[in-house]
Amino acid sequence: MTVSIIIPCHNESGNLETLYTRIRAVMEQTGESWEMICVNDGSSDDTLLQLIALHSQDKRVKIIDLSRNFGKEAALTAGLDATLSDAAIPLDADLQDPPELIPELLAQWREGFDVVNAVRLSRTGESWLKRASAHVFYRIVNRMSEVEIPPDTGDFRLLSRPVLDALQALPERRRFMKGLFAWVGFRSTNIYYHRAPRHSGKTTWNYWQLWNFAVEGITSFSQVPLQLAAYLGFLVSLLAFLYAIWLIISTIVYGNPVKGYPSIMVTLLFLSGVQLMALGVIGEYLGRIYEESKQRPVYLVKQAWGMVNAPNTILA
Ligand code: UDP
Ligand code: MG
Repeated sequence: MTVSIIIPCHNESGNLETLYTRIRAVMEQTGESWEMICVNDGSSDDTLLQLIALHSQDKRVKIIDLSRNFGKEAALTAGLDATLSDAAIPLDADLQDPPELIPELLAQWREGFDVVNAVRLSRTGESWLKRASAHVFYRIVNRMSEVEIPPDTGDFRLLSRPVLDALQALPERRRFMKGLFAWVGFRSTNIYYHRAPRHSGKTTWNYWQLWNFAVEGITSFSQVPLQLAAYLGFLVSLLAFLYAIWLIISTIVYGNPVKGYPSIMVTLLFLSGVQLMALGVIGEYLGRIYEESKQRPVYLVKQAWGMVNAPNTILA
């Protein structure tokens, strides 16, 4: 059995040495044959040089160098596409996902589970706002979508070969990985851990990116907002209709003392607000259809080290 540990790396030079040492120590205990597939996602520091140094020292460290920064989801996809192993474990390079948990993941896999999620019991070193917004996000997305995306689970998990094959077969370009992991299904189980703060460097996600990530998650896995826009429009029209009847009756009963200005303005502004909102929701989805219809690859590989199978390689 072989196990691939898939590590998206964006400006992680301060972490790689420790990461490698800890992974090696852990994997040597397990007795499985293993490899680290490090995906360099357009780092501007010396991440790539460090990876090459590790590779020349230990051939189990393999490198996929993307042609630019494609974002974490794309980097992860690149690693998952390339692995030929019996199981893969996506892991953050910043050591927030402790490699020491890998034996537990492997144990559940040997029990016959295809997906083993590592669920965070706590997240130290992350701001209150980030934790709270993540909490709200999972509640919302799970209310709205048909697949249950396990809350408090990052990308750190074990995926068996059948799951990897299923993921590789999914054609979509916009890859909200947590959702796709849940969507493919298979027999899954959880293990629990306390999430550590970043070992070195700082997070590259700001709140605007997190917000966009949340919109991505919701629109990729739910059509409720689209339907909501329609229902809201219907409700508003109904209210406007009732209001119109009331106006007619009151004119007949009380006469018309030319006082319509406020009611016209209120109705007008309210309705245009609702229309803009509905258009915005449609725009979100339309943008995604546009993106998919371009059929561009999710990532491009500039060069690879030690990889037998690196799809989308543009340079030999
Ligand atoms: N990452 C990446 N591309 C990016 C941003 C991040 O490959 O554009 C990697 C990063 O190197 C790390 C993982 O994704 O291994 C998680 O990133 P980060 O720690 O910044 O996210 P957080 O833990 O704050 O959610
Ligand atoms: Mg992190």
